[in-house]
Amino acid sequence: SSETSVAELDWPALAERVRTCTNCELHGTRIQTVFGVGSENADLLIIGEAPGAEEDRKGEPFVGRAGKLLDAMLGAIALSRDDVYIANILKCRPPNNRDPQRDESTACTPYLERQIQLLQPKVILALGRIAAQWLLQSDAPIGRLRGQKLGFGNPETPLVASYHPAYLLRSPAAKAKSWEDLRLVRKILRTTP
Ligand code: SF4
Repeated sequence: SSETSVAELDWPALAERVRTCTNCELHGTRIQTVFGVGSENADLLIIGEAPGAEEDRKGEPFVGRAGKLLDAMLGAIALSRDDVYIANILKCRPPNNRDPQRDESTACTPYLERQIQLLQPKVILALGRIAAQWLLQSDAPIGRLRGQKLGFGNPETPLVASYHPAYLLRSPAAKAKSWEDLRLVRKILRTTP
């Protein structure tokens, strides 16, 4: 029932809670919620900021050209979309793809935190400035947050921040640094029991 706290919900109940959520104003403009996709046994959790127009239509995160690039990035460390779990901080699309507002991120983050509790990933890859800054509660530019093993939550999950694939499409020169970040993710996956 809606009386049960988010922190006690299992996967199906959590997905249903999100599907019917009206906890922030974004519920009024969404086509559908974008809960997340992938393996519920994934060692790697990828977190972006929010659904865009195509995600809002399809109900899946990271689709379109940026999604294809993400798939290629995962392929480079011998992973596919089915091996990982992909979610966003916001489950509903902000109108005109504006940045998430603090109250929206605050309202939605308990769902992501529950996803992390259920998954217990070995490492989180935060893609893009918005996701990285929110998860790390930092104002530092993505160029300073990336490239190192940081952490999220309590108990702490290792977190690596990197560039959003949509940014890499516009700035291909950043791909070399993105590759360094992926290799760090791969190293954490390999060395975590
Ligand atoms: Fe609920 Fe999150 Fe959608 Fe806001 S963005 S309505 S908190 S699911």
